[in-house]
Amino acid sequence: NTTVPRLPSFLKTSIPTGSSFTKIKKDLRGLGLHTVCEEARCPNIGDCWGGKEGATEEEGRRAATATIMLMGDTCTRGCRFCSVKTSRTPPPLDPHEPENTAEAISRWGLGYIVLTSVDRDDLADSGAHHFAETISRIKHKAPHILVEALTGDFAGNLDHVALVAKSGLDVYAHNIETVEALTPFVRDRRATFRQTLAVLEHAKKQGVRITKTSIMLGVGENRDQLMETLRELRKVDVDVVTFGQYMRPTKRHMKVDRYVEPAEFDEWKRIAESMGFLYVASGPLVRSSYKAGEFFIENVLK
Ligand code: SF4
Ligand code: SF4
Repeated sequence: NTTVPRLPSFLKTSIPTGSSFTKIKKDLRGLGLHTVCEEARCPNIGDCWGGKEGATEEEGRRAATATIMLMGDTCTRGCRFCSVKTSRTPPPLDPHEPENTAEAISRWGLGYIVLTSVDRDDLADSGAHHFAETISRIKHKAPHILVEALTGDFAGNLDHVALVAKSGLDVYAHNIETVEALTPFVRDRRATFRQTLAVLEHAKKQGVRITKTSIMLGVGENRDQLMETLRELRKVDVDVVTFGQYMRPTKRHMKVDRYVEPAEFDEWKRIAESMGFLYVASGPLVRSSYKAGEFFIENVLK
């Protein structure tokens, strides 16, 4: 079947407004930070940057979440769902990035920051030292800011996972993306399902309070495969899971298999909660870091 399903109305979003959103956007100019929120035109930017409804500007900013991309814009891998540029030899790391990022984030004043990166298989440590250094500098300058690291798999090197896990972060995230059977088709061949479980398990063993992962729905998975994936994640003590709809970035990327109804997302939330996940975000537009700040600040990391 080669027909692509039409975009349902629940996937259309409006242009964000709101005082905290506008202010955060203005602040960003001049700080030199590159957010995934803006660069990937994430549909949740109004919710994530808008903070809490009816809150003061200060409260709004503390409840806001943004995702910052480290180590450049060019990935050494090529996953079939991802629109990031690919090269075997990306430009070298900017040695000032950890300090400059930490300085900008500490001045920005958001409550919750997600740091993520492209995968750097060209580097001996896959960028682990650079990642860890950025986190420890942020925590040194602004200990009150909660930091989530959304990492790659560091080519399966668990010492590198441990280095990042012990850098002072609050949440360690690494995405499983899909069920085991579809992994070789959906993700770069170097990213395996088992390796992702090993990364999450090892991070948790380093004493990280919260581990987290995300699953895209609508790439061809079935119910039993999803149930099995959730069981595997619980076995390695993953605390938080999010479910969102896969959206095809361009025609060169893999097709959407189906658009999952909001009611089914609600059902996966109930199922995952009943299996013991501490927190589950599930909905067509939910992305890995969706409103993470608001939730974690209020419920988990108080
Ligand atoms: Fe940014 Fe993530 Fe929120 Fe999207 S879901 S706006 S990328 S923090
Ligand atoms: Fe995109 Fe990450 Fe895959 Fe690189 S490793 S192509 S950034 S999903």
